[in-house]
Amino acid sequence: MTQIKNIGVFTSGGDAPGMNAAIRAVVRAAMYYGIEVTGIRRGYDGMGKGEFVPMNRKSVSNIIQRGGTILKTARCDNFRTPEGRKNAYEQLVKHKVDALVAIGGDGTFTGAKVFGNEFDIPVVGLPGTIDNDLVGTDFTIGYDTAINTVVDAVDKIRDTAESHDRLFIVEVMGRDSGLIALRTGIATGAEAILIPESKTGLEGLFNRLEFGRKDKTSRIVIVAEGDDTAGGAFEVGRLVQEKFPNYDTRISILGHIQRGGAPSCMDRVLASRVGAAAVEALRDGHRNEMIGLINGEVAYTPFEHAIKHHQGIDPNMIKLVEMLSM
Ligand code: ATP
Repeated sequence: MTQIKNIGVFTSGGDAPGMNAAIRAVVRAAMYYGIEVTGIRRGYDGMGKGEFVPMNRKSVSNIIQRGGTILKTARCDNFRTPEGRKNAYEQLVKHKVDALVAIGGDGTFTGAKVFGNEFDIPVVGLPGTIDNDLVGTDFTIGYDTAINTVVDAVDKIRDTAESHDRLFIVEVMGRDSGLIALRTGIATGAEAILIPESKTGLEGLFNRLEFGRKDKTSRIVIVAEGDDTAGGAFEVGRLVQEKFPNYDTRISILGHIQRGGAPSCMDRVLASRVGAAAVEALRDGHRNEMIGLINGEVAYTPFEHAIKHHQGIDPNMIKLVEMLSM
């Protein structure tokens, strides 16, 4: 059992619904074990600037259902430099923080890994990103909410597409991962998906549109933001319109609505479980690991492994999109 007295918790990188539920779980679990918690505002940027706030039971009341992050989040180039990290460490020492829980994505964990190797402070991470692009957890905090937001939006787009006999090209988030596009493509009955992990390409898309059922009155194509088939949904839309002038084609970029909103039940439970597990992991001497859930069990994955390999795409899921949109 490691004697930890004061855990610093922060959110970093892109925000994700469920981050608040994770902060709450860290604070409440730490109190359960008699450990103090310090909230660090604005990620690594606030760490270097000494933006520290003591957290108590009350500071995390009534936040489990709120999107965003009460601790704010930021990107910080200074933390990429040795001086920036040294400065951050000095702030932690000054505020008597002796362990860290970092909530974020691969960039956050890359920073945490470097930091944890440079200074003698245990750091564990919680997967907080809508992209679901980390290895070591079946799902990341925020992914379930984001895909439900996409499904809700595409269902609405489908209504208007159907009324006007239109083809919609819908761009979704995910950085260089197609996991949001893949799952929402299946759930919305999309005609086709374009994702970085598959080689559908323009020809593949044109074939689907050309040889697909002719009596369809609406069509949805989901494009992942990281897909490089043509350089984004606008360009895909332009090329489709050029090739099929008889289709009334429209483009919709869903954008940041995918990052907001109340977290789903799945995200709240995931955040609560891994948040509490992070405190227990620190007590048990874990460091430089991401805490995730695999098959319902808490899993500990070294940062370098969590960030280096994106979750693989199941080819059967890609096939499913084609098979079911006939
Ligand atoms: P998301 O996947 O949702 O965008 P993220 O955690 O990947 O979240 P990033 O902006 O990539 O978000 O990273 C967050 C912060 O982590 C960066 O602003 C920077 O401060 C820190 N960071 C990233 N890479 C490094 C690195 N190589 N060395 C030190 N710090 C880093």
